[in-house]
Amino acid sequence: MSNSFQYADEAKGRQLLDLAKAHGTPLYVYDEAVIRRQYRRLRNAFDAEVNLALHYAMKALSNPHILSLMRGLGVGLDAVSIEEVKLGLHVGFEPEKILFTPNNVGMDELNEAVALGVQINIDNIPMLELFVQSHPDYPVGIRINPHVQAGGNARISVGHVDSKFGISIHQLPHLLKLIDALNIRIEGLHMHAGSDILDTEAFLRASEIIFNTAEHFEQLRYLDFGSGFKVPYHPADMETEIEELGRLLSTRFRTFCAKRKKEMQLIFEPGKFLVSQAGYFLAEVMVVKPTPSTLFAGINSGFNQFPRPMYYGARHEIENLSNPEGRSRIYSVVGNVCETDTFASNRKLAEVREGDILCFYNAGAYCFSMASNYNSRLLPAEVLIRESGEAEVIRKRQEWGDLLRGC
Ligand SMILES: *Cc1c(COP(=O)(O)O)cnc(C)c1O
Repeated sequence: MSNSFQYADEAKGRQLLDLAKAHGTPLYVYDEAVIRRQYRRLRNAFDAEVNLALHYAMKALSNPHILSLMRGLGVGLDAVSIEEVKLGLHVGFEPEKILFTPNNVGMDELNEAVALGVQINIDNIPMLELFVQSHPDYPVGIRINPHVQAGGNARISVGHVDSKFGISIHQLPHLLKLIDALNIRIEGLHMHAGSDILDTEAFLRASEIIFNTAEHFEQLRYLDFGSGFKVPYHPADMETEIEELGRLLSTRFRTFCAKRKKEMQLIFEPGKFLVSQAGYFLAEVMVVKPTPSTLFAGINSGFNQFPRPMYYGARHEIENLSNPEGRSRIYSVVGNVCETDTFASNRKLAEVREGDILCFYNAGAYCFSMASNYNSRLLPAEVLIRESGEAEVIRKRQEWGDLLRGC
């Protein structure tokens, strides 16, 4: 089976090694060319006639330089906290280009969002009632939970029946009564079924619920189908067939607009799709340690700096960049955090020696943005390789003083 997973070629491998040497490890490196490629791929998957708006889900990777790059591409932002909203404005996004989809926030945060003029998606009925009391004329979107199970991982599937997200589709009668009684202007319907939705069919089923629900709303300006595109993490992994999804949904959306006799906007909020494959995480092997049961490769990082394997059980492809021709052996790659800290078990790698540089793939999404100072370790630096091939540091490695700030 083939997918869009790509190992670093020889030139890229050399460049990554040079960057590790120049800036030290652990190090995050991002590739602008890959972000641009993913953006084009997603855009081209949809008919040109569809009024498509992409809002980058910035929680995936929120470095301001990455946000600037996104702004240059013409995408908007999907923000989930008021701080993300402010970060987007700071980088120069127009307020109308920022969609704010928080959950379980208080009125203070929503008042601030109104004052800043961003688009707001409301996640629950009590908040909707409260919101219109203070802002009767501010148009809002609402987050609908279509209850379509998508993806296998309960931590990242958020559309199921036990999920805390959105207004249940079964609450529609109540919702419609409120909207009528309070004269609320609903300008958008939103759904987001979670990350890593593989299945085009499940996705289309969920979107059918949104299309049907839209019949009840006169003033809609957009339908927002969230995200959850699955990207490959290794050469045999499954991925969302984005071209097929784009083709089918474009047709469906155009029929929908034609029937309504109104041009509407189709919104997606990709995070992982745009940045996951653009990221490499580089760490150095400190200790190679055989035990009676396992051969460990211990690196100078941990789940504090690269959380996905421990947090989600995610499998990230790893390569030994500095000894690619080495005879392969089976290793468990582990970190330096003082508790179980496993990046990979029983993984075949080119022979690992102390001082070797390991490269972790798919390090663009939900890696640095989820990293912490646990164990009082300093956060790694981030480097961006521009399309020209030039690399620039876009976030300095933390320093000792950062740990004491505000204390
Ligand atoms: C996290 C999130 C996304 C992005 O999901 P990906 O799987 O990274 O594409 C989109 N919309 C909302 C509301 C989110 O919370």
